[in-house]
Formats: sequence, C-alpha cells, structure tokens
Amino acid sequence: MDAIHAPLNPVWAGIHCRCPRCGEGKLFAGFLTLAKACSRCGLDYNFADPADGPAFFVMSGVGIVVIAWFAWLEVAVHPPVWVHFATTFPMLIGGCLIALRPVKAWLVASQYVNKAEEGRFESIGKHGEGGFAFDRRKASGD
Ligand SMILES: [Zn+2]
Repeated sequence: MDAIHAPLNPVWAGIHCRCPRCGEGKLFAGFLTLAKACSRCGLDYNFADPADGPAFFVMSGVGIVVIAWFAWLEVAVHPPVWVHFATTFPMLIGGCLIALRPVKAWLVASQYVNKAEEGRFESIGKHGEGGFAFDRRKASGD
C-alpha cells in the first residue's frame, strides 16, 4: 500500500464515490465517467476497468428486490396494471440509477486495493512447458 495514505475500505470509498487511495478526491467526472486522475493525490485512474460488473450487480440486486415487491403486490392486492407502471417501473429505474455510481466506485476501489488486473500468458522458455504465470514483481507494484 501507499506509505502516505492509510488503506481505505473499498466499500467506504465506493459509497462516497471517492478516490480509493486518499479517500478525498472525486472518482467521477460525469454520472458514470471516471475522472482521469484524483484531484487530491494524483492517482491515475487508468487501472480502473470494472467493465460490465456494476451493471450486472445492480441489475441483479435491484431486480430481485423490485420483482419481489411486484410479486407481493400482485398476489396480495392484485391491483390494476397502472399501479405497477406507477410503482414497479419507477422503482426499477430509480433503484438502478441510484445504485450504479456507488457500485462502480466500489468495484474500482476493490481493483485498486487488490491490485486486480487481467491475467497474462507468459512463456517460461521451454517448448511445451509454457503456461499461465503470475508476475509477482508487477503485482506488487515494484
Ligand atoms: Zn486520491
């Protein structure tokens, strides 16, 4: 970890949408667009690539909760369909929009804390014995 900054909890950094190193600089430049670097400590955010992770987790989590609401409402009250349009759809859309930023920030912070990156194939120099190798020097940041 960095000598100047104490390690942050990725969940805390995610909920507050802050830099995973210093916890002070903003992580986002737009709604879901990451800033190029931290405005406080200068951490370059090029390492950050959560890909479809935030969308998957938010879709799954919000979907389960809202569909449970939908099913309960339908079975218990059996309301007209406009009630579902007035309650279920706004809950789906609003829940996803509210949760996307902190979940993306949490995943970026987790990438930083765990030094996660794509796996690489690396030859060990002998024909037929090459394979997946873990480069400890790059993983430790030295
Ligand atoms: Zn920072």
